[in-house]
Amino acid sequence: MEMKKPQGPFCQSCGMPMGRPEDFGTEADGGKSKDYCHYCFEKGKFTEPEITMEQMTGKVAYFLVKMEGMPEAMAKEISKTFIPRLKRWQ
Ligand SMILES: [Zn+2]
Repeated sequence: MEMKKPQGPFCQSCGMPMGRPEDFGTEADGGKSKDYCHYCFEKGKFTEPEITMEQMTGKVAYFLVKMEGMPEAMAKEISKTFIPRLKRWQ
């Protein structure tokens, strides 16, 4: 299976592609976050401030399996490579 190439920026926390305005999280002043999606970031704060990179990697792998129908081994491999490169985890 080929990875789709999503358009637009990725959430710098979970890696979700943000193609639509409503995919973006919100800043404290009500503006849109340019870095994070609405699952990860609301009103200027992370929705799960305590989550570790390992936990996020697990969540993303689960999401790829459930939503994209990706084989588990591949999903784990992709999230392990992709998530640590995002800004939140630097
Ligand atoms: Zn996100």
